[in-house]
Amino acid sequence: MRAALRPPVSRRTACCAGMAAVAALLGACSSLRAPATSGSGSDAGSGSAWAGARVVRDGRLVVRGTVGTDRLRTVAAETRAAIARVREVWGTSVLSGRVVIEVPRDRAEFRARGGSAEGGAQIAATTTPDDRVVLAPAVFSAVTAQGRVVVLTHELTHLALHQATLTGVARWIIEGSAEYTAYHASRLGLAQLAPEVATAVRAGRAPTGPPADSDFTARPAAAYQEAFVWCRFLAHRFGQARFVAFVRAADARAPAAFATTFGVGPGALRAAYTQFLRTRLGSAGTDGR
Ligand SMILES: [Zn+2]
Repeated sequence: MRAALRPPVSRRTACCAGMAAVAALLGACSSLRAPATSGSGSDAGSGSAWAGARVVRDGRLVVRGTVGTDRLRTVAAETRAAIARVREVWGTSVLSGRVVIEVPRDRAEFRARGGSAEGGAQIAATTTPDDRVVLAPAVFSAVTAQGRVVVLTHELTHLALHQATLTGVARWIIEGSAEYTAYHASRLGLAQLAPEVATAVRAGRAPTGPPADSDFTARPAAAYQEAFVWCRFLAHRFGQARFVAFVRAADARAPAAFATTFGVGPGALRAAYTQFLRTRLGSAGTDGR
């Protein structure tokens, strides 16, 4: 799960700048690579002692890193806000255990702590297989506090749903559920949160369903946005409760989770999805949620 950084996009209001910038980021998820075989950092898998790291604790929340204590305290407060957002969607029982957030001072250290190389400099954070969220240094230079809460909400969704070690689950479910959660409280319109999808729709190249796993490698920014928009469509059409039930069933690898939960297959929703995209993204003046 990643939250990666694209160049910040200028927005109409300052309060939205952070969220909009994050829409340009890619969340890189360690779980998306073969978890059993890929070594993505020296002591990444162990969550072991971190020489020189300072620690801020707040109940069961641990924020540690090689940056200043003030920055760690800031991240702790932002993490609290993100946890609340995750619970709004997934219930108050999630994330009740120990939550570890790591804040490396530079990119080399980010990689050493298990930060993903996927997405290159665009990466904003990684959730590791041993359930640590490692923030890329770029999240402090490229996004606002509000944007960092979005990044943290995305990663903490993976943590809450134990998605960091999932295999055999479509990436759109994993990333779409995290993006859906990260943006569910946003007041920004869909066109601002998914600008690449909006551009495609207006150019007559609207997606007809969720992105394929391979799209997350071939064209990651668009794939993340398509996963998010598809998930928002499902929640809009069937209600958030059923969307949540579907993700939980899919993550548990329940057979035919989609058809069982929604009563139809994705292909049967094609016309309704096209209409949804047209209504919300079909013209330059449309910016509905
Ligand atoms: Zn992710």
